[in-house]
Amino acid sequence: MFTLTPSFHRHSFRTIVGLLLVSCLLTQSAVSLAKTVSTRPAVHKPGIKTGSVSKPKSVNQHVNSANAKVNPNAFIPYYNQGRDAYKLEHYAEAEKLLKKSLVLAEQGASQMYPGLQQKNIAIIHNLLGVNAFKLKKYNEACLYLKRAMNTYNRPEYQAANEDSLMSDALILGQIAMYEGRYDEAKLYYQEALPRQEKILGLDHAQTRQTQSILEDIARIDQGSDYLDRLGRKVIHWTHPEQSIKVFIANDSSMPGWKPEDQALVQAAYAEWQLAMENRVRFEFVSEPAEADTIVSWMERPKAVTPAEAEAKQQELRNGECQTQTVDDKLAQDNIVVALNSTEGTPASANSIYNTLLHEIGHSLGLMGGHSSNPADILFPNNRYDDGRRKHLSQRDIQTARRLYVLQPDVTNPEGIHLVRYYDYTTLATQGKEAYNHKAYPEAVNDFQKALAIYNAEPEIRFFLGASLYLQQAYAGALPYLMASASVPGKYQDEALKLTGHAFIKMGEIDDKAGARSLAEQKYQRAYQILNQGLQTLAMKPENKNAILQELSWLNNRLSIPSDTPIQWASQDTRQITNQDQANNPKKRGWFSTFVSSFSASAAPIQGPTQ
Ligand SMILES: [Zn+2]
Repeated sequence: MFTLTPSFHRHSFRTIVGLLLVSCLLTQSAVSLAKTVSTRPAVHKPGIKTGSVSKPKSVNQHVNSANAKVNPNAFIPYYNQGRDAYKLEHYAEAEKLLKKSLVLAEQGASQMYPGLQQKNIAIIHNLLGVNAFKLKKYNEACLYLKRAMNTYNRPEYQAANEDSLMSDALILGQIAMYEGRYDEAKLYYQEALPRQEKILGLDHAQTRQTQSILEDIARIDQGSDYLDRLGRKVIHWTHPEQSIKVFIANDSSMPGWKPEDQALVQAAYAEWQLAMENRVRFEFVSEPAEADTIVSWMERPKAVTPAEAEAKQQELRNGECQTQTVDDKLAQDNIVVALNSTEGTPASANSIYNTLLHEIGHSLGLMGGHSSNPADILFPNNRYDDGRRKHLSQRDIQTARRLYVLQPDVTNPEGIHLVRYYDYTTLATQGKEAYNHKAYPEAVNDFQKALAIYNAEPEIRFFLGASLYLQQAYAGALPYLMASASVPGKYQDEALKLTGHAFIKMGEIDDKAGARSLAEQKYQRAYQILNQGLQTLAMKPENKNAILQELSWLNNRLSIPSDTPIQWASQDTRQITNQDQANNPKKRGWFSTFVSSFSASAAPIQGPTQ
């Protein structure tokens, strides 16, 4: 006679809780699930029935002489030991014992009342299945669990085995999710759900979880890519000749940090670079100041209660990627990866790797959304991961490649390395702040330093010109103002207006010094430039009015014939310039002096329409 210790069903139920918890460490629901379920009262169920009801030996001897020597209860100690090994998480050991138990139970089956041993065998199948699941032997797990369910589903057993039928369906559903068989997963979860509603209740965290898994499955998209699920703005790196410089932080003081983490980052970047076929290249640098992307680590706060978990949901992420942009230019990415789970245990190398692949995907421009397919690295959580190392799916690769064919709305600046661009934008921002505080000498200093790094943006030339103008350094201001007035941009008409003003101011200074003809030249130039601009540019009304006033003042001053200014400037910019230069060599010389005094970058004045 055997007395079996804790019932198998209760045990297998706990198993389910364990595996669900493992598979969704990230989510708040997982945490609350652990709490709720562990406090649930034990479900008491009968265990394996033993020899007291077995058939008399004499009967069996007639049936099968080979089995005559088999003790029909011989499987029980093996089962009990196997179950104990399983409880201690010695799954390989448990597997051996349970398989031995199964063989013995099958051999002894003929010596028992029909049905009884069948039920015992189902119990062994069930634990073998759960154990195989723990060993990630999914084929075996499916085989045993389906066999157990077949028996439990018989009318005579069903009522007593609702718990097992529920938990087995959940495991089978989970395996199907891991392996991407979503239709099959759906059937298992649909089978489990009514039992969960009945046994656990409608509001139980686990019941709700199954509902949300079914919703996830309904949303799964299996098209060739998921570009349409990303943000509307096209954001990606271009100019592949400029490698993206990556700095990996060595946070040796952080709990859980290991030197090997560095290699994981490099491997994850290598996987993306290979997949992108050199549309992007990465280079690892030893100084954060040289980096376009900084990869660092975080210690995730432990969630103690479900409410706390909810409050900390943002912090409970495995990782995150922040992309900084400056004026629609990619400036710098920061990738942060958690080194521990919500339970406080160290994150596995696989989990760190998977998180890195996901975050690097974001930093390459797969942002503003996620894939709805758990097989993709850009799926938003690791709910359906079984802890194994993931790789980019075909859909991930297709999506990234398609993205890189599109014209970007936001990209890295051309002709300057991002690191330098970041220095440039820092100086430019500083300069604009000084400008707004009317600290013009500081502003001039910042803008000049910024332009020494990068001079492809007219805006900073305008601000430098304006700062100099406001310091009454008109001659110094003019090259910058003229350069920004000559290319289309946000400040073009402003720059034109100030150019005219600067010439007039210089003329006034000449006037005061008694240099009449020099003053005249400057007024002429002011008139010409303002007039040209008025004819060619679309202007803000206030700028247009200011320019019209200046023109009328200059008109009187210069005694220009009455059919001007409109008539005089009705030709396009280039013609006027040519005519001007052809008719007046002296003027041309004066103009050339100005052009050559521009900084090397400054474009000569051109009609904005060209
Ligand atoms: Zn994400």
